[in-house]
Amino acid sequence: MNQSEPFYYFDNNATTRIAPEVTESMMPFLTDLWGNASSAYRFGADVARAIRRGRERVAELVNAEPEEIVFTSCGTESNNAAWQAALLTQPNRRHIITTAVEHSANMKFGEHLQRRGYEVTFLPVEPDGSLDLHLLEKTIRPETALVSTMWANNETGVVFPIEEITAICHSRGALFHTDAVQVAGKLPIDVRLTHVDYLSLSAHKLHAPKGIGCLFVRRGAPYTPYVVGGGQERGQRGGTENVPYIVGFGTAADLAAKHLNDENTRVRALRDRLENTILQKIPRTSRNGAKALRLPNTCNLAFHGVEAEALLLMLDQAGICAATGSACKTGSIEPSHVLTAMGLPATLAKASLRLSLGLYNTDADVDYLLEKLPPIIARLRDEDVSVIE
Ligand SMILES: *Cc1c(COP(=O)(O)O)cnc(C)c1O
Repeated sequence: MNQSEPFYYFDNNATTRIAPEVTESMMPFLTDLWGNASSAYRFGADVARAIRRGRERVAELVNAEPEEIVFTSCGTESNNAAWQAALLTQPNRRHIITTAVEHSANMKFGEHLQRRGYEVTFLPVEPDGSLDLHLLEKTIRPETALVSTMWANNETGVVFPIEEITAICHSRGALFHTDAVQVAGKLPIDVRLTHVDYLSLSAHKLHAPKGIGCLFVRRGAPYTPYVVGGGQERGQRGGTENVPYIVGFGTAADLAAKHLNDENTRVRALRDRLENTILQKIPRTSRNGAKALRLPNTCNLAFHGVEAEALLLMLDQAGICAATGSACKTGSIEPSHVLTAMGLPATLAKASLRLSLGLYNTDADVDYLLEKLPPIIARLRDEDVSVIE
């Protein structure tokens, strides 16, 4: 797509526009300041200082100590690293509990571990997308090495009660990891209030570039590196530091804290207006995950009788970017595993559209979508009357 065409972006849960402030802060480290932080001379020390500052800024976003932040290449690596650490440091415990609605970062790693002889339980969810905490409690066993659940769902925006889940895990003697990739910048995160052992973030979901993430590892929580090499990251993750991206992540973390209020007022109001108007204007439309606590920016709607894949193509023709579920699934015709786990029949799961807003969305964007969507849905429903139930 030509970027000079008008372009309406409603896919902020897949990735976000890089903030100009982020790019600007990275530039010196892509040009003049290219030294290696491990070098003994001052040219390296300047770079080491920039990494330190980036680490402090990312730590501050979640109220961690800088020493509790391990930089990784992405959210996926952060999740994998936490699971691997929990298993390798407790070799007698070969059971992991996660949920049926995780991002593929956890789903696929869970299946991979099952093939390698570990036991992985994928907890079901309720129709509104929430977890049954009694079931979680009953599922934890002495051999459970780790419980890992997302904090907020990337498809539906449904938020899990992380404080309660952490307390349950700890009372039953299990470590707890949360994938907080969708939460950073949208809801407050404070690891001194929520006693998670490990927590994953990814920078490209908060207006920094793709290819950098971090894992919070609580001081004292068992840990062993997933990527082994030089002594970088205090021996917790080998590989020469990705300096420009660490700097950019730091800037983005600062901005995310500053914009938290905007996300929860202006962006939430945009989302609510978008959602309520669609539900009002377009008959036979239902909301997925409506009754649970949700992120302020995410909207997931089922347009009964419509193939969402066809809807995506028509929206794209109108310059509108949206999604049918996890971005990693695009192109496949499998119904969303998240909506399926919530009990939606395949026809409705395949009729569901995700719209995720962000800081750069305006009222004009929402007006444009509200103008384009109803006739597109009507056309799709008329064109293929046979699929309408
Ligand atoms: C995007 C996303 C990830 C993966 O992050 P990457 O940096 O792309 O690997 C993991 N979990 C959730 C909930 C996500 O939305």
